[in-house]
Amino acid sequence: AAKNKIAILGSGNWGSTVARIAGGNAARHSNLFDAEVRIWVYEEVVNGRKLTEIINTEHENVKYLPGKKLPENVVACPEPQEAAAGANILIFVLPHQFVKGLCAKLVGHLRKDAFAVSLIKGVDFDEGGVVLISEVIRKQLGVPCAVLMGANVANEIAEEQFSEATIGYRDEQHAQLLKHVFQTHYFRIAGAPDVAGVEICGALKNIVALAAGFCDGMGLGNNTKAAVIRLGLVEMIRFAKHYLENVRDATFLQSCGVADLITTCYGGRNRRCAEVFARSQGAKTFEDIEQEVLNGQKLQGTLTAKDVHAIIKRDGLLERFRLFTSVYEIAFCGKPVASLLEDLGKQELNM
Ligand code: NAD
Ligand code: 13P
Repeated sequence: AAKNKIAILGSGNWGSTVARIAGGNAARHSNLFDAEVRIWVYEEVVNGRKLTEIINTEHENVKYLPGKKLPENVVACPEPQEAAAGANILIFVLPHQFVKGLCAKLVGHLRKDAFAVSLIKGVDFDEGGVVLISEVIRKQLGVPCAVLMGANVANEIAEEQFSEATIGYRDEQHAQLLKHVFQTHYFRIAGAPDVAGVEICGALKNIVALAAGFCDGMGLGNNTKAAVIRLGLVEMIRFAKHYLENVRDATFLQSCGVADLITTCYGGRNRRCAEVFARSQGAKTFEDIEQEVLNGQKLQGTLTAKDVHAIIKRDGLLERFRLFTSVYEIAFCGKPVASLLEDLGKQELNM
């Protein structure tokens, strides 16, 4: 049988960090993997040079992960088909809004035994309801798709600080192989046979992170943020159970659940941009802020807030998701940021 070969599709802040990990493991586990790891880079010109050329000569993604070297066995490709050629392990790690366009280019170019793992935190929707990004990939490409989510602020993992992640899987053999792709002494991998639960946590926590950032922008303290995190977690669980089948309670206690929620509400980009939004008092839109603050990196929480709002509104569930609704109305409908806490204060807590 052909050797396992890894391809990474996406090369932003997290994609580049993952290239350090997967590139290192491909070289280290030579019994398991082909040493070459190709990474698809959305081509752009940085300081007058193509980003792929910079990565392949300097071994650094100077725009999305500056200051950190990539292993030399990681090879940047500007074309997705070229990156995926010969690979059976496809790591999808790009902003969720670009997934369908990428998959369209990969159709018909994959190895027969290829399978995917999605590190993407977002969701899609159709007339039927929630569509997981792993399902988009599975359906568009006809390959099985696991997920990997966790409390994984990329810059900290690039510093090799201890952290954990959860692989949500259906196929246990794929999950075992993926553990070898991702695990290092500082990046510890657990498994959960609950793709939907793991993935929906990763998507929804970004909405809660916007609420946390609003609190920071209003100058509020730790108790308020803890309340927002807790109320957000309640809505995450409620949403997961309402829209998806067989989600396990234990999943919310994994790194992909409560731990990712905490780290993102303290250290994430969604939080940071929401703080700037709150301080601007309506002067700036999230689009302005994303461009000003993130240097090409992308927010996922604002799009998710919009999509989630559309579906809970359609289903008459706005009252059951006050935090999600409030975040949407503040971010997109000109409601004052302070209304977040007024909205949360309207609900009676259980006695
Ligand atoms: P990023 O936000 O840092 O970078 C954006 C990427 O999108 C860049 O690689 C850019 O080249 C690319 N891009 C821009 N326009 C494009 C287009 N039209 N088509 C295709 N690609 C385009 O990316 P990231 O941080 O690697 O995020 C990828 C996914 O990983 C997201 O779903 C995110 O939620 C998730 N994630 C991120 C982190 C993190 O800390 N950064 C951690 C865990 C998960
Ligand atoms: P942000 O996209 O808000 O930075 O969150 C990163 C993340 O998913 C950490 O696990």
